Amino acid sequence: MRASGQHFPGGDETSLPSENDPDQIDVTVIGGGLAGMAASIHLVRAGLRVVCIEADIADATPVGESLDWSAPDLLAGLGLPMQRLIDEGFGTWKRHVTLKLPDGSTTHYIPGEWLGRPPLNIELRTLHVDRVRLNAAVREIAIRDGVRILHDRVTEIETRDRTVISVTTEQDTRIASPWFIDASGSSARLPRTFNLPASDYGPHKVAIWSYFTVTESIEGTTLHAEGDCTSYMDWVWEIPIHANTISIGFVAPGETIKALRASGQSVDDILRTQLDRFPRFRDLMRSAPAISTSVTSYRCRVHSHIFGPNWLVAGEAAAMVDPMTSNGVTAGLRHASEAAALIIKYRHRDRLPWLAAAMYSRRVQDVARFFNCGIEKVIYDGPIRNRIGIKIAGDVYTIPAWSLNNVYARISPSGVISSMFVCLLLGAFRVAASVMYSFCKYEQAPCEAAG
Ligand SMILES: Cc1cc2nc3c(=O)[nH]c(=O)nc-3n(C[C@H](O)[C@H](O)[C@H](O)COP(=O)(O)OP(=O)(O)OC[C@H]3O[C@@H](n4cnc5c(N)ncnc54)[C@H](O)[C@@H]3O)c2cc1C
Repeated sequence: MRASGQHFPGGDETSLPSENDPDQIDVTVIGGGLAGMAASIHLVRAGLRVVCIEADIADATPVGESLDWSAPDLLAGLGLPMQRLIDEGFGTWKRHVTLKLPDGSTTHYIPGEWLGRPPLNIELRTLHVDRVRLNAAVREIAIRDGVRILHDRVTEIETRDRTVISVTTEQDTRIASPWFIDASGSSARLPRTFNLPASDYGPHKVAIWSYFTVTESIEGTTLHAEGDCTSYMDWVWEIPIHANTISIGFVAPGETIKALRASGQSVDDILRTQLDRFPRFRDLMRSAPAISTSVTSYRCRVHSHIFGPNWLVAGEAAAMVDPMTSNGVTAGLRHASEAAALIIKYRHRDRLPWLAAAMYSRRVQDVARFFNCGIEKVIYDGPIRNRIGIKIAGDVYTIPAWSLNNVYARISPSGVISSMFVCLLLGAFRVAASVMYSFCKYEQAPCEAAG
């Protein structure tokens, strides 16, 4: 069994404490994606000694480039304010979202200017980011602030009842500490270890994406979709991560991709064929004879009871929100900040108070359910969208999603009353979406009845 670890390039040569000296570490963070790094930064800044274990240092194809309106404040809290990210070429401004249909018609979803004026003073801009550069910048801050990063994979978790005692890595390093945060993304190490209950939203989906050089970049995130009269919607994202680079990705149910693969299409063929449906991409495809694609598959899954006496789960390990919501980065950074705040507050006790941890879990769960339920019922699935049309469905989803996300950011719920208030609001929208969905399903839209 080893007692020291390798580090990310550029990391300080700091040795890990041995298992005989567990007091040297206060918090072990599993996973060094955005959520794990952000949690580690908050913790070290409060004086805790943190080891963050990250399995994949290459981090070659991170995804999640279109940020929602709450992400910039959370990034600023880490030391990456919006203006700096723009000035240093980490991304581009995002002021609105556009929906484009194959017939060329376009709808813009733009927050009203009055929201930016007193007394609300809401920031009406957010960002698209180059995730390779953003992740590297966050990691650099973590190393500078004193997070010890171990390049290794957690393979075993030692527990006693519901308490985590230690983790052991592939390279046989055992790390014990009083507190643990699981930010291992879709690996969801602690949810699996404790067999936590989970709810799934929508089918398994696959995303295929690539990057293109353009001479004229668009402003804002654009979603290209067939729109009306489809039973389950697939879509294409177009995100300008730099002035002359756009990220284009196709998202569809796993079954659809499986059928296309079975018909002999390669992943590149699938992306090309799908993009060919939209006039905007035809010329682009012709000018790019070879494309290099990335692929990932995922399921939107929300875990419950994501806490124990000495551990919390954060980021995608706790709850995966659908990419169309653009809420994944915000969620990861928010969980990181709230989970770290709980550990910092109760660091001198031997366990987290049940109510405070349960409220954290409830907020994470209810926000993710709200986004996933809204996007699945109003946009992806057919009944509501086909009845009211994709453009109005866009408003029905976007207005509450944008507003409630802002309410959350303003209130920053942490206590019981503010948490329950926010959870009630989120629950009310979910109920309204479900009632509307059932009604529209019963009163089938003309295109569904015909087809
Ligand atoms: C196709 C797609 C498009 C998306 N688009 C957007 C978007 O436009 N906007 C947005 O806000 N969000 C988007 N998201 C979501 C966003 O990318 C994620 O929510 C966010 O990056 C998750 O961060 P995380 O740190 O929780 O997880 P991750 O980034 O997955 O980090 C988890 C880390 O844990 C490490 N790890 C896993 N297991 C172990 C282990 N056993 N030991 C050690 N380390 C381990 C992994 O290597 C990884 O680095 C998208 C997601 C997908 C799938």
